[in-house]
Amino acid sequence: MPAHGGKDSGAVSNKIIEKDLNLTIAKELYNALGKRGAIVLLTRDGDYDLSSSNYSRKRSDLYNRAKVINESNANMFISIHLNSDLNSSYRGIQLFYNSINKENKLIAEAIYNSLKNNISNVRDNKNYNDYYMYKNIKVPGVLIECGFISNPYDNYNLRQDSYRKKLINSIVNGIINYYYN
Ligand SMILES: [Zn+2]
Repeated sequence: MPAHGGKDSGAVSNKIIEKDLNLTIAKELYNALGKRGAIVLLTRDGDYDLSSSNYSRKRSDLYNRAKVINESNANMFISIHLNSDLNSSYRGIQLFYNSINKENKLIAEAIYNSLKNNISNVRDNKNYNDYYMYKNIKVPGVLIECGFISNPYDNYNLRQDSYRKKLINSIVNGIINYYYN
């Protein structure tokens, strides 16, 4: 679930290191989903990446993440990221899905609708087929960019427990709606 880790910090901006906040959000999501009865597997629970080679480290990390997910027997994967852009006015949460199967889009829509009801800055879902990893994952799921750490409002919000609680509850409810609607 939590993207990046170890040598791969992901995005860094104003007090937030992506890999660290990804892990915080993923652990909070882990707990919230667990309370609703889901069995959740974290792809990492500390500050490390999953690469098994120093050669092409990123590719190896993504390959191993895909492998963990494919071998997990999971019904769904959620990849947690934080966005960053040189233009600091960009803000908001955005879901990315691969159209390799029909379910990915439906999961993205269910989570989007739930987020939209609770949070003001939700960008339109994006069909994104370029990520190496998502072509190789056989389990349906989505990538969530939880906000732009390069934007002062998002950056501030993401550091607040109350905001993250709202974000996480919306994701959890979206996942439940996907299964029960
Ligand atoms: Zn990222």
